[in-house]
Amino acid sequence: MPQTRSGRLDGDAGLEVGRPVVSHPLQCQCGTIKGVVADPGNSNHCVCYCRDCQAFAHFLGKVDAVLDERGGSEIIQVLPRNVTFTQGIESLACMRLTEKGLLRWYAACCNTPIGNTLATPKLSFIGLVHNCLENNAPPLNDSFGPVRAWANTNGAKGDPKPKVAGLGPVIWWFLTTVLKARFNGDYKRTPLFRADTGMPIVTPRILSSTEHSGVMNAVRAATG
Ligand SMILES: [Zn+2]
Ligand SMILES: [Zn+2]
Repeated sequence: MPQTRSGRLDGDAGLEVGRPVVSHPLQCQCGTIKGVVADPGNSNHCVCYCRDCQAFAHFLGKVDAVLDERGGSEIIQVLPRNVTFTQGIESLACMRLTEKGLLRWYAACCNTPIGNTLATPKLSFIGLVHNCLENNAPPLNDSFGPVRAWANTNGAKGDPKPKVAGLGPVIWWFLTTVLKARFNGDYKRTPLFRADTGMPIVTPRILSSTEHSGVMNAVRAATG
């Protein structure tokens, strides 16, 4: 059932009290890249503890800003068609930890993580990393609802590991939202891939094996 989240009185975001949250601002730390996430209620708010997400934070030099105390990254999965960049898209950069890894998008200007996608637009989702949704923005829970899933908890720092939870709703969200976009053609509406070729708008930089072992060693050292 679609949920209506109440709006907040927030002049910057242009929201009014009592109205559903219709969009949420996206911005890199330095303000070069700006954008907006439409229909934020149609999202999947989760925490991923996998070592690759931690490695991305190490690659960016943003461990303290990105990861929580257990090494988790707060991620908001949305449909790419709901993400619009209003300025600075030319500052977007993209990397892959390995040749087969996720495309990990970030702001080259200030190393703010933006989000993760598959290498193809056909499975239409982007996992936005929380940092790009927290500048001049209402609290994440107000726009996207509370965290409802905890994934890859084996990668968490310390024991006992957090419980894997909430994967049912995640799968349901994928079935109802991502697969629907695949079949109705909405997956073609994405700011991150070229409509004609289906290729990413930026050629991803793939880490060399030395760079890869460097970040993975940093993760191991931090996680124990
Ligand atoms: Zn920036
Ligand atoms: Zn992850």
